[in-house]
Amino acid sequence: MIIAVDGPSGSGKSSTARGVATRLGLRYLDTGAMYRAVTWAVLDAAIDLIDIDAVATTARELDMAIATDPSAPTFSAGGTDVTALIRDPRISENVSKIATNLGVRAELVRRQQEIIAAAQAGGGIVVEGRDIATVVAPEAELKVLLTADPEARMARRKAELAEGAVTSDELRDQIVRRDADDSTVAQFQVASDGAVEIDSTNMSLDQVVEAICQLAKEAADAVPQDQES
Ligand code: C5P
Repeated sequence: MIIAVDGPSGSGKSSTARGVATRLGLRYLDTGAMYRAVTWAVLDAAIDLIDIDAVATTARELDMAIATDPSAPTFSAGGTDVTALIRDPRISENVSKIATNLGVRAELVRRQQEIIAAAQAGGGIVVEGRDIATVVAPEAELKVLLTADPEARMARRKAELAEGAVTSDELRDQIVRRDADDSTVAQFQVASDGAVEIDSTNMSLDQVVEAICQLAKEAADAVPQDQES
């Protein structure tokens, strides 16, 4: 089974998708972390972010190792463990510029589809991102669009970070400004067929995980017997 969880920053996608994968014994893929890893590599190599060809070449040539265990989803890029480095505000500030590069998108979508195909042999995967239901895995058995009010998303992001680690302006930049920049990515404008929208503004993490696990059960029950492997 493939479960797609799409949604904007701070909507709770990561905790939710990991929680669902753990509960259902599935693999887990954070596609946003892949865009972040390319951003890290581009900045590390001091490549100009507006040099479209050089940035796309970096994405194509980058040696990325991605662990899909939901209890330890680690990322390495060019031999460096970037799991923590890609959460730096500097990466959040620049990642949208990398995500609007079509050469980068083509390469990362290709790699994501490979990871999904490999995971399907082992039971399935929960994939979180922005274009999973529309572009990466439109064949997903369950497609969830996770939303929440901007104020709730900012409050959650603040709670995730250490006290005083981020000012309100930085928070607004990470959530509201990034929403605006990401909305220019053409692939995010497409509505996905058959996605279930869950507004998590007034829901706890456990409630959202429970709701998705219930939907996954219904989706699995709906698969005709002759299609089950
Ligand atoms: O999910 P997260 O906020 O970590 O994603 C970081 C950035 O990666 C997003 O702001 C967006 O620009 C990009 N992204 C994307 N396509 C995806 C997932 C993330 O373009 N499937």
